[in-house]
Amino acid sequence: MEKISVKDARQAAAIGKTVTVRGWIRTRRDSKGGFSFLEVNDGSSLASLQVIADGNLPNYESEVKHLVAGCSVAVEGEVKASGGKGQATEVAARKVTVLGGADPESYPLQKKQHSLEKLREWAHLRPRTNTFGAVTRVRNCVSRSIHNFFQEDGFLYIHTPIITASDCEGAGAMFRVTTLELDKLPRDGSPIKNELDFFGKPTYLTVSGQLEGEIFACSLGRIYTFGPTFRAENSNTSRHLSEFWMVEPEVAFNDLGDNMDLAERFLKRIFKDALDQCPEDMAFFNEHYDKTTIETLQKIVASDFRRVPYTEAVEILERCGETFEFPVKWGVDLQSEHERYLTEKHFQGPVILYDYPRTLKPFYMRVNDDGRTVRAMDVLVPKVGEIIGGSQREERLDVLTGRMAEQHLRPEDYWWYCDLRRYGTVPHAGFGLGLERAVQFITGMANIRDVIPFPRTPGSAEF
Ligand code: ATP
Ligand code: MN
Repeated sequence: MEKISVKDARQAAAIGKTVTVRGWIRTRRDSKGGFSFLEVNDGSSLASLQVIADGNLPNYESEVKHLVAGCSVAVEGEVKASGGKGQATEVAARKVTVLGGADPESYPLQKKQHSLEKLREWAHLRPRTNTFGAVTRVRNCVSRSIHNFFQEDGFLYIHTPIITASDCEGAGAMFRVTTLELDKLPRDGSPIKNELDFFGKPTYLTVSGQLEGEIFACSLGRIYTFGPTFRAENSNTSRHLSEFWMVEPEVAFNDLGDNMDLAERFLKRIFKDALDQCPEDMAFFNEHYDKTTIETLQKIVASDFRRVPYTEAVEILERCGETFEFPVKWGVDLQSEHERYLTEKHFQGPVILYDYPRTLKPFYMRVNDDGRTVRAMDVLVPKVGEIIGGSQREERLDVLTGRMAEQHLRPEDYWWYCDLRRYGTVPHAGFGLGLERAVQFITGMANIRDVIPFPRTPGSAEF
């Protein structure tokens, strides 16, 4: 008796085998002929397996005829060619063992259609829906593809710390990590004794592995980090999470042009892998969530990304005749409405904006010869806006410390970062891709909370 997955049992190659399949009932239909059709899903594929449960089964009347959505079963039987539409095979059950029941009165997924908002309240059960099964498989595919892309190219996977003591990595508000007893902190206005905290100083959850990634790139050449990052910003949007996964390659001797080439090649690879390796799930998203997602990805894989300096992008926005909530002029940070106008309407495809005003960007980005701009780049895609942010890093110690002073940072707090410029400094560059933004873009899911298993957002961390 071979134990196989629903996915494998659905292949024509399985015909003739006697197998055991385990999973959860999606539906049961009873036929007038005195037998039942069971749809069994185990997460291995979007499509379920059709099981024919004959009326002669010893537990047919007592158990099989009461199976409902959510019950778990083990089915033994023979895989046969199916005459049914949309499936090559079905299993004629010899034995159906009910592993667990599910009370139809209280099982939340008994009803077929729930809103995505409602399903967020049931993060423990939503993986059993078609949508979250598909999201989970695509997310897995993208993660594998990320590792494959870098591993095949000789990059080393570096595990950068999650708890960090550098409190300004330049990417936004941080969560404090502490073992101080919060209800025993001084209330008379006297300062908190950080020296009594676990690490003897204030520590935080990381917002990015970049600075530590640079350390390894400046020793080992080509590296990437891929791990959770945390942002304590109160952004309640469809594109922000408080905890998300970021991929950050960092490459010694790369300049901004090399960085753009890498980002473009990288995105195309993960898009192509999703199309090639998850065709069934992608067809599902295309049908139910975004009718353009497959075509958009195919077009992107086959085309070149536009590369446009910030200054030129601002000119385009000033001339375009569109009314924006936030007016544009040189020196302002581009808002999502501006980014989306550029990628969706003006260029109608991915755009890499680069050379941003120095005042908008963190201290570590390399200053251009014009003195006004830095070697920053953002990759923008339709629907999502910014999917990648990166830069060539400042490798000149004097310029770097000057920039730190400008931003009221103390070089002694970053002594190790400065040392990289003091001893054998090299040009280098890198970027960060938000895994969830990538999965959101690929699947066409409208809300980022629906592409991560357990979303954390301001005011919400149930599971
Ligand atoms: P945004 O302007 O969209 O808030 P950012 O400029 O603050 O993003 P970076 O610090 O450049 O983001 O981070 C690199 C990448 O990480 C972004 O391009 C995006 O893909 C992803 N990212 C950033 N913040 C979030 C977040 N809160 N939730 C999910 N992904 C994020
Ligand atoms: Mn950014």
